[in-house]
Amino acid sequence: MKREQTIRAAVECVGVGLHSAAPVRMRILPAAAGSGIIFRRVDLDGFEVEATSRNVARVSYATSLMKKGVLISTTEHLLSAFIGTGIDNAIVELDNLELPILDGSARPFVELIQKAGIRKQRRPRTHLRICRELELREGNKFIAVYPSSTYSVSYTIDFPHPLIGRETFQVDLQDGNYLTDIAPARTFGSREDEQAMRNMGLIRGASRENCIVLTRKGIENPPLRFQDEFVRHKVLDLIGDLALLGKQILGNIVADRAGHAMHTALVSRLLRDRTLWEEATVEDEVHPAPSNVRVLAAQTA
Ligand SMILES: [Zn+2]
Repeated sequence: MKREQTIRAAVECVGVGLHSAAPVRMRILPAAAGSGIIFRRVDLDGFEVEATSRNVARVSYATSLMKKGVLISTTEHLLSAFIGTGIDNAIVELDNLELPILDGSARPFVELIQKAGIRKQRRPRTHLRICRELELREGNKFIAVYPSSTYSVSYTIDFPHPLIGRETFQVDLQDGNYLTDIAPARTFGSREDEQAMRNMGLIRGASRENCIVLTRKGIENPPLRFQDEFVRHKVLDLIGDLALLGKQILGNIVADRAGHAMHTALVSRLLRDRTLWEEATVEDEVHPAPSNVRVLAAQTA
C-alpha cells in the first residue's frame, strides 16, 4: 500500500518573491504523518497557515493563503513540487510573506527535496478518488475532473503570440513524468503588459532570471526549456493549486484556458460536494490498475 512521505532532513534556500520582491529565507522541515503541508511565518512568532482550501486568499496572478490576516503568497510552485515528488507532510518556514520565485519553475524546489531525501512514513496515503464528473465553465474558460484510476492532466492554452497560440499538453503523473516534463517549465510574462503589472504591484520581483519574457514576436531570454514550455507551466500551476485539496487526486483533469481562480474554484466545489469523491488507498505499484484502488468509506450525499 502506498504510504505517506516526508523529507529526511531540513533544507533551505533564499530568494525573492515574484510579486513583492521581498527577500525571503525558506526552510523545509520534516513533519509527522497526517499533518499535511504547513507554512510557518518565523517572522511572526511562528504563526502557522495550513495549505488547505479554506485558507485560500486572493487568486489573480498567483495563489495566496491567508489566515487571521497573515499572508503566504505564491504557494503554487512549491506545492506542485511536493505533489510531484510525493511529499505529503512538511513544515515550510518563511521569514517573509512570499515564497521565493527562484528560476520561475518548480525544479529548484524538486532539487531541494531530493537533497533532503524522502522518508516513507507508516500511515497509508489516502487519495481523493473522483467518482463523478464535475465540469465548470466561465465564458470560454473550462475546467473539469473525470473519474480515473490515476492522476492525469490535459491542459490547453490559447495565447495570442507567434510562439504560443493553441497548445495542449497531456501528462499522467503516475508515470513519474513530473520531474522531467513539468517541473522545469518556467512562468512567463510579456514585455507589453509589464508596466501595467508593475504599476499594480504584481511583479515587483520579476526579472529575466525568473520568468520567460515575451516580446511582440519572440522571447527576450532564450532558450526555452521546451518548445511548449508555456502550457507545461500551466500544468505545473494547476497541480500546485489542486494540492490545496490536501490529498492526491485519482482523476483526470481537463482544463482549457483556466487560471488560478478556476483551479481553486474546482478545489472548493470538490470539497463542498462529498458525493463527487471518496477516500481510497492505492497498492504500491509503478502502474496501478483500477483493481488496485481500494475504497475506504463510501460517501453519502
Ligand atoms: Zn506559475
